[in-house]
Amino acid sequence: MMKKRAELHSHLGSSVDPVIMWTIAHQQGIKLPSKDYWDFEEMITMSADERNTSLEEMDRKYFEWTERIQSSPEALEVSVHSVIGGGYRKCNIVLQELRFNPMRRNRSGERDLDHIISASLRGMDRALLEYPQVKAGILLSMDRRFSIEQNEIILDKAIRYAKDGVVGIDIAGPHVKDFSMEAHAPLFARARDRGLGVTIHTGEEGSVDEMRYVVTTIKPNRIGHGILAAQDPSLLELVRDAGITLEICPTSNLKNSIIKSVDELRSTLRAFVDSGVKFTINTDGPEMYQSNLADEEAFLLKENILTQEEIDRATAWAFDATFIAGR
Ligand SMILES: [Zn+2]
Repeated sequence: MMKKRAELHSHLGSSVDPVIMWTIAHQQGIKLPSKDYWDFEEMITMSADERNTSLEEMDRKYFEWTERIQSSPEALEVSVHSVIGGGYRKCNIVLQELRFNPMRRNRSGERDLDHIISASLRGMDRALLEYPQVKAGILLSMDRRFSIEQNEIILDKAIRYAKDGVVGIDIAGPHVKDFSMEAHAPLFARARDRGLGVTIHTGEEGSVDEMRYVVTTIKPNRIGHGILAAQDPSLLELVRDAGITLEICPTSNLKNSIIKSVDELRSTLRAFVDSGVKFTINTDGPEMYQSNLADEEAFLLKENILTQEEIDRATAWAFDATFIAGR
């Protein structure tokens, strides 16, 4: 029997099986660059030796397509349903948080956000009926490229749908010059006041200063990645003392050239272990990165990055740090 696992950090845009994406695209009459399924699979997944040079490249090459295909209520329902069921069947994921940005799935305002979000929750509920062993929740992601007004609309939706299965708020997207984490602080404070879990993509690329600000001022429950802290002992202490759990995505970091080598990945994770920082192991999106939680664990073990005991502790931390409460 496979161990029970929890996935806290995966994006819907990189989590849906290409076979399902192919059928959705055709059902909706979306014009694709090729009429051959194998070209399509190559287009939305990364092969073993493929690398992006940056998050911006990753977003442009892959998410532009997957988000376009997922931009309808019907597509959202099928997508969310498939990821939750698939995670249980493949890796015994009994706790799954899945995140997406509804405003990057509304065809620039053509589709109604309430329909988009409701459909994702329907997909989740259908999966939970089929797999009653699983608990799941949706996180709505804001985006660094959006205006604060746009991101506030996403937060308002997260609050509105909290009773129906939206369990938290996130901010993601490639770094852009004009983005201000400080300007977004009131949004995160409001999310927390309304009982939503708060996680923030920071310390992945960019500067360690932003992550320090997030840790000391915004104080989220969790941080997406946060790997830059490994280079800064004082920040590691702050993360540990604040009780913040880091969501680590090893394969994603390597494939997006955020971490340059297995040795660098090892020294990063050892820094977290040695300083007592809590972290979880995640995929960031199993289909696009051609990974899954079992593969991630096997890789960390094989490369002598973590021991089995350390991996199991990270799994336990994931069950502790989830935003899903007794759903
Ligand atoms: Zn992510």
